[in-house]
Amino acid sequence: MITPDKIIRSNRKTLSVSIDHFGSVTVRAPRRCEEKRIFAFLSEKEEWIRRKQAEIKGAGMALPPENLDGYSFLLLGKPCEIVVDEGKRVRFDAEEYKLYLPKENARERLLKWLKENAKRILCSLTESKAREMGTAYRSVSVTSAKTRWGSCSYHNALHYSFRVLYAPREVIEYIVVHELAHTKHKDHSKAFWDFVQVFVPDWREKRKWLKAHGVLMEIF
Ligand SMILES: [Zn+2]
Repeated sequence: MITPDKIIRSNRKTLSVSIDHFGSVTVRAPRRCEEKRIFAFLSEKEEWIRRKQAEIKGAGMALPPENLDGYSFLLLGKPCEIVVDEGKRVRFDAEEYKLYLPKENARERLLKWLKENAKRILCSLTESKAREMGTAYRSVSVTSAKTRWGSCSYHNALHYSFRVLYAPREVIEYIVVHELAHTKHKDHSKAFWDFVQVFVPDWREKRKWLKAHGVLMEIF
């Protein structure tokens, strides 16, 4: 049986069901519709709802359960499964593509691990891209920003959200090129995009990926 996460009643005449990016089920119903009818309607749609939820989960876009165990999230664009066990350290198995977390403070340990790895990857990527682009920057820092993937200050200090680690590597490269291009152009003018284009010819595709996956910002 499917239980809706939310029921919105209004002056409509028919029932409808929708699923958001995290797999939550919302039913829209007429104001005086009986619950019995809502549940009957949901059981008719059960197969479709289950399929949608499985797709969302497979894409690493479902919200994690409290204890994180068994949860899959996108790591460098690929679903990575979390295994919470009795170990003492965070371990990443690149072959299995699984991340092992100690039971104690699993969530904090995970965030720390993500931030450390984001910093490592972003520092080296920024350094090599800056060389390639002939640009100079002041510093690289990794934040927990949920509203932007990266930014470039007036004095060319670069900030990235550790959440860029969810994106495929070529999308991360685009984010780095984008911020480095801001060291030359502080706006999103045509000159800015022309400069980006030299280093990431298909930047539009990368932007599309980020837009479509903005919801990942909400995970963890
Ligand atoms: Zn920008």
